[in-house]
Amino acid sequence: MRYSLISVLWFLCASVWGAENSPPAAKPVRPLPAIEHVVIISVDGLRPDCALLADMPTLRSMLRDGAYTFWAKTTAVSITLPSHTSMVTGVVPQKHAIHWNEDLPFSEPVYPKKPTVMEMAKQAGYTTAMVAGKSKFSALNKPGTLDYVFLPAALNAKVGNAIVADEAIKIIEAHKPDLLFIHFPDVDSVGHAKGWGSHPQRAAIEQTGKELARVFASLDRAGIRNSTLVILTADHGGQGLTHGVDDARSRHIPWVAVGPSVKKDYDLTQLASLEVRTEDTCATTCWLLGLPQKDYFDGKPVYDAFEKAR
Ligand SMILES: [Zn+2]
Repeated sequence: MRYSLISVLWFLCASVWGAENSPPAAKPVRPLPAIEHVVIISVDGLRPDCALLADMPTLRSMLRDGAYTFWAKTTAVSITLPSHTSMVTGVVPQKHAIHWNEDLPFSEPVYPKKPTVMEMAKQAGYTTAMVAGKSKFSALNKPGTLDYVFLPAALNAKVGNAIVADEAIKIIEAHKPDLLFIHFPDVDSVGHAKGWGSHPQRAAIEQTGKELARVFASLDRAGIRNSTLVILTADHGGQGLTHGVDDARSRHIPWVAVGPSVKKDYDLTQLASLEVRTEDTCATTCWLLGLPQKDYFDGKPVYDAFEKAR
């Protein structure tokens, strides 16, 4: 009896080990096969009108080649970590339960109550990566969900846009990940120091445009530019020296998609009933990667940005 119990336990352990070490299943079938990679780029604090006022040639070329709205909306709280978590989980903060906006000295790490799109993609056999300029994004770095990660190491630490771009470029060129999330922090930092809409912030936006150009050049060098969908968006805007609850200047964000199968120079505000929301970034990415639309999602795919989407 004792031996048979041990045998059963051994069999169960071996089965679990075998399941964990079996090769990943084939990737899902994608609805728009020309899109093999997705890069989500969030420029922290990028208010749409500030982006349009800036001299940002990379953004201009994205608009010529892509579909866009400068009236997309972020979460009502309009702060960095809850809003980014909604962007990548497809749900409002009440569902993902990341309500705070700093590194907290939890004894155990706390992750969103709903999986990130990186986690869902990883489980489906995709390679995933994240490069973020603020250490609090560790809340999105659940073990086993990201193949390649760069985050500032110390509590409540931040690095500048140039380092973020450098790290993203390294990952793109070395690994060509299927899904990459990039967070640029400087526009928000300068907004808090000098004001949203200030000339110093405009300079930070223009500098961010140069980093975007470097990221696009790295997609070229990696040979994946023509198979990559890039979504450029933000977590919130701002007013004065801050951003926050349900102020229109904080809630509006840009949402620009560029890549194969995307409509060219297409302003999504032509569609009166379409309001793009930050949760739609997750839903759109899931759709493009052939992942299911979860019934709990608050976001939906922005089908209208794509040719022959349905
Ligand atoms: Zn901020």
